[in-house]
Amino acid sequence: MPTDRPRQETAGLGFRLPLNITVTRQLLPKGMAYVFRDFELGELGRLAVESTPTGETQIVSEVAGDAADPMTQRRLELLEPICRELTSILESVKGQGRAAPLPVRTPYPRGKVPCEEVRCDACGQMVAFLVFVDGATDEGRFEDYARQMYPHYARNNVPTYLIGPALGSGPMEHRPANILKVWPQRSPMECLQPEEFNPRLIELSQRHCR
Ligand SMILES: [Zn+2]
Repeated sequence: MPTDRPRQETAGLGFRLPLNITVTRQLLPKGMAYVFRDFELGELGRLAVESTPTGETQIVSEVAGDAADPMTQRRLELLEPICRELTSILESVKGQGRAAPLPVRTPYPRGKVPCEEVRCDACGQMVAFLVFVDGATDEGRFEDYARQMYPHYARNNVPTYLIGPALGSGPMEHRPANILKVWPQRSPMECLQPEEFNPRLIELSQRHCR
């Protein structure tokens, strides 16, 4: 059981979240947001509660990810009922004291993500796109990277694989990794050794100009 996963600390929200969903708090310039995270889908989105210049409270739900990404619809399906319920609670209790504090969210992931373009031996065109996601230690974090990298691989429009950290303790060149194909179609996660995965890339680069 990962210890960095926030618990169901929803006492201050006045309703129970589904067991697969956690919530953290994010500070905003004029308020705060509740950030929701699914164990498998990663970050779903947030409900922002901010004050307007006229002193009113504005509550806005925002799904995470690119609108063109089919996974955004799945995130929305989980996020929407939660935001609807929380919005009605916030509207009904407004002014009746402060909610209990939630853990503050750590934005994730951060920084540059290493990528590699696999090219055709003959013409040099890109035939596959690899994204090395060393921080992807569970399904939800794979989905975080898949969401963040979506604009890149949708633009490249070549088979795209997210490759997690090397697993196990054998020789480095034989260590397997979890690999998630996200484009053009999604495939279930596979755990593959380099000698199992690399031939697929070689095949892609060799058959391109045949
Ligand atoms: Zn080619």
